[in-house]
Amino acid sequence: MPVRPLFAGPADLHTHSRVSDGTESPSRVVRQAAAAGLGVVALTDHDSTAGWHEASVTAADVGITLLPGMEFSARLGFQSVHLLAYLFDPDNGALNSETARIRESRLRRAESIVRRIAADYTLSWDDVVAQTTPGATVGRPHIADALVARGHVPTRSEAFAGILHPRTGYYMPHYAPDPLKAVRLVRAAGGVPVIAHPATRGLDAMIDEKHLGELVDAGLFGLEVDHRENSEEGKVRLRELADMFGLVLTGSSDYHGEGKPNRLGENTTPDAVVQAIIDEASGSAPVYPRG
Ligand code: AMP
Ligand code: FE
Ligand code: FE
Ligand code: ZN
Repeated sequence: MPVRPLFAGPADLHTHSRVSDGTESPSRVVRQAAAAGLGVVALTDHDSTAGWHEASVTAADVGITLLPGMEFSARLGFQSVHLLAYLFDPDNGALNSETARIRESRLRRAESIVRRIAADYTLSWDDVVAQTTPGATVGRPHIADALVARGHVPTRSEAFAGILHPRTGYYMPHYAPDPLKAVRLVRAAGGVPVIAHPATRGLDAMIDEKHLGELVDAGLFGLEVDHRENSEEGKVRLRELADMFGLVLTGSSDYHGEGKPNRLGENTTPDAVVQAIIDEASGSAPVYPRG
């Protein structure tokens, strides 16, 4: 007897809410995903699972499949590497102490960036707090919103292109584990790791075969190829690397609400890849529509 599949796409596996640097509540992100015609959505806030419960309740209500996830901040040398992690155990102690450490460092770093900016522009820490939901993972987008509210720049994107750009001199990094540690932590928590937007900086800056091979040996499962910030030549290379290392390829929007132009469903992941991620995971279950 044929088994009815538990979900049907289209699937968007990378979105942000106010729990990190998106502009909408987790519930609204899920509602918007359903309204956009998606059948599957993953909530992947930076370094936090605080939106999972709210997103799960809404997903069950609106009848969309939810993959609980996270975008885990890592760094290789000077390059930031973002690791999408799906369906891990949200109560895993080792993973939670690492993300707590990252969130704390992000907070101190944001305070330092604001102190530097305040030497040249009218800007206070309270301005940033006013743009941030309590408990959220703080990032440059919140500082950008404070700069917009103060009238120093017209949009978030212009803040990133100017005052918040590493070149401009106010920027500071935050603590982040190396990607190998991040992959191991996600796997140990039963999750499935996929490198987010791996080709945003041109072929030379892309992760090399040696490092990628190490991540694959540690359990890396996929590469996010269809993402608006990956270059076209980078996507070609990512497909070659996925073939070479036996990795799945995902596609997603990296929706941040009004914080970025990215629209829900602008890139999607095939159902077979979603199923492979679900089958690979042992830390938590998707939320399927009732019935
Ligand atoms: P941070 O992690 O604090 O260094 O900030 C990086 C975050 O800012 C990433 O999650 C991006 O999604 C977001 N971001 C980067 N560039 C822009 C932009 N031009 N407009 C809005 N958000 C951006
Ligand atoms: Fe973000
Ligand atoms: Fe990212
Ligand atoms: Zn993201």
